[in-house]
Amino acid sequence: MSKDTLSVLKKLREMHGNPRIELNFSNPLELTVAAILSAQCTDQRVNQVTEQLFRRYRSAKDYTNAEQGELEEQVRPTGFYRNKAKSLKNFASDIESRFGGRVPDDIDLLTSVRGIGRKTANMIIGVAFGRPAMIVETHVMRVAKRVGLTKSDEAEEIEEDLKRIVPQVQWTDFSLLLILHGRYVCVARKPRCLDCLLREDCNYWLSEVQQNSKIVK
Ligand code: SF4
Repeated sequence: MSKDTLSVLKKLREMHGNPRIELNFSNPLELTVAAILSAQCTDQRVNQVTEQLFRRYRSAKDYTNAEQGELEEQVRPTGFYRNKAKSLKNFASDIESRFGGRVPDDIDLLTSVRGIGRKTANMIIGVAFGRPAMIVETHVMRVAKRVGLTKSDEAEEIEEDLKRIVPQVQWTDFSLLLILHGRYVCVARKPRCLDCLLREDCNYWLSEVQQNSKIVK
């Protein structure tokens, strides 16, 4: 890969500082719950809901024992509340029965738990447990492709491509920075290229935008 990844990382830090996840949590269980609720929902809305939820349900057992209807009401503002309440109960039940109520810190074990996909598993490893993990979600996929850090459209291939070119110790920060960049600068419909320090490193800017003069101010 010819891209100067360290230059990209440096510029991302310049634009977004030291990245942190925007979901509120205080332990791996809470982060997993917040991640499940964040599907098709803003982090701000999830944080409003979890403020109450985390006071009420403190352990995997609490979620397992919760009435389905009661849990649905609690998570209703995040949308798709029936499925999300079900996912929370399935996840908590697996954690309770297989791991004594503790969220495992292993990617293979995490992805074997109902309700936890690879993206969430990497988020838990990287953010809750502080170990290197490349979190690949929609913003990361878009920005990585536009910049030219990957040619793939498949999350797992993108994860491997990024892991190959980013020093391991920087994996989590790099992916969190791409998430922020995709959320606030390299947005889906009209990327704010004129506000972006990555222009010289970015295939999208160098080819499509310059050639077609589709720059949006
Ligand atoms: S230059 Fe434009 S397309 Fe490239 S990363 Fe920046 S905002 Fe995205």
